[in-house]
Amino acid sequence: MLYLSTRGDPGRKHFCEILLEGLAPDGGLYLPEAYPQVDGAALAAWRTVWQTRGYAALAFEILSLYIDDIPAADLKAICDKTYTEAVFGTPQIVPLKPLEPGLTLEALSNGPTLAFKDMAMQLLGNLFEYELGRRGEQLNILGATSGDTGSAAEYAMRGKKGVRVFMTSPHGRMSPFQQAQMFSLMDENIHNIAIEGVFDDCQDIVKAVSNDLEFKRRYRIGTVNSINWARLLAQVVYYFAGYFQATSDNTQQVSFTVPSGNFGNVCAGHVARMMGLPIRQLVVATNENDVLDEFFRTGVYRVRGSADTHETSSPSMDISKASNFERFVFDLLGRDGARIKALFGDALNQAGRFDLSADPAFADAAARYGFVSGKSTHADRLATIRDTWERFGVMIDTHTADGVKVARAHLDAAVPMIVLETALPIKFAATIVEALGREPDRPAQFAGIEALPKRVSVMPADTQAVKALIARVCG
Ligand SMILES: *Cc1c(COP(=O)(O)O)cnc(C)c1O
Repeated sequence: MLYLSTRGDPGRKHFCEILLEGLAPDGGLYLPEAYPQVDGAALAAWRTVWQTRGYAALAFEILSLYIDDIPAADLKAICDKTYTEAVFGTPQIVPLKPLEPGLTLEALSNGPTLAFKDMAMQLLGNLFEYELGRRGEQLNILGATSGDTGSAAEYAMRGKKGVRVFMTSPHGRMSPFQQAQMFSLMDENIHNIAIEGVFDDCQDIVKAVSNDLEFKRRYRIGTVNSINWARLLAQVVYYFAGYFQATSDNTQQVSFTVPSGNFGNVCAGHVARMMGLPIRQLVVATNENDVLDEFFRTGVYRVRGSADTHETSSPSMDISKASNFERFVFDLLGRDGARIKALFGDALNQAGRFDLSADPAFADAAARYGFVSGKSTHADRLATIRDTWERFGVMIDTHTADGVKVARAHLDAAVPMIVLETALPIKFAATIVEALGREPDRPAQFAGIEALPKRVSVMPADTQAVKALIARVCG
């Protein structure tokens, strides 16, 4: 299996070559040259693998089709070590939680940081340790977070050989629970940097450091952002696991609704569907930051400025542009790299938008690729959290509530709908209290974490100060 760039670069790479990279050299995103096809016999065999040997074995089957430069026994050991009941809380790893006939949650948020990003990041941590060990290299991950990504990265990389994490976050702006999750980590390879500023300041610092190529090379700076192909690939597995749980044979179809921001999660659903998983619809649910809903309704993709990017009560979906969207548009437009370069390179840079409404391919987004969309607001979230609690006794977080709200507009009595649960309510307690008048349940392992000692350096929003810290730690 070789990987290509969405922007037409003729180069081809193997999985482990792109594992530690971000963008392709031409600014595009990596995708496999072709999606491996899963026929009826293979799907039946995977259903048996799932039923008899579980999630890690299923992950190995799927990953094997995309990774040809890690020996099978090693890849199997990495999957077995990653997807355990000890790490993900249940033997099924991603159990279904039925709400009513035809509407089910798939629980993706029982990992160490209680958000679905653990599903991919835990695998990434083990892949990084393996590949860096094999190369005898060290990697220093520099990131910016407003919550979920940073903590998932830290819990995945803590204690890993060959990896350090430097994670910037806006000082005093994450929820007390999120701060406690990150800052209570005492592992020597984890470095929390609280920046006196907002999230954009943190991102600007990360960009400035990465643009200093000399510094970047010297200190082996890398990232773990959501455009990483390995993260997306890891997410493909739970679409299959959800399907096998919701159906009894492979003639049946299901639909998925996915609370979306950077389009990483739902793009994994697109890959599963392209492989042949019987998915009827992929429903993209957004919050008030409705870049994606606007595209699927109108054919116009219009990135937002920071003044137009709303701070909402489902903050992990507060995006101004959807960084993985280019992957889907590449497939939609017949994998025409030159056209993707013109749209995502030139048009977005110059006009901040492009318009596919007159392109026959746009009509295919629903008919051929199953994509539809919808949007949810703060009032919708409150009403959905309340309704789900009152009628089913199930407490859902704000992002999952956006999913349930939008899913309800796309139900089809003949096709089970699976809504991906992307976080647990304890991470967004203030909105739960607003909706229900009570605190969310707290998993036992998080009792009292706000009182634990904290390990964090507070700094001004100054690139030089962050560079100096990295240089000091790396020696
Ligand atoms: C990251 C995140 C999302 C958005 O996922 P994308 O892959 O960026 O579309 C949704 N919900 C939660 C809780 C998240 O952490």
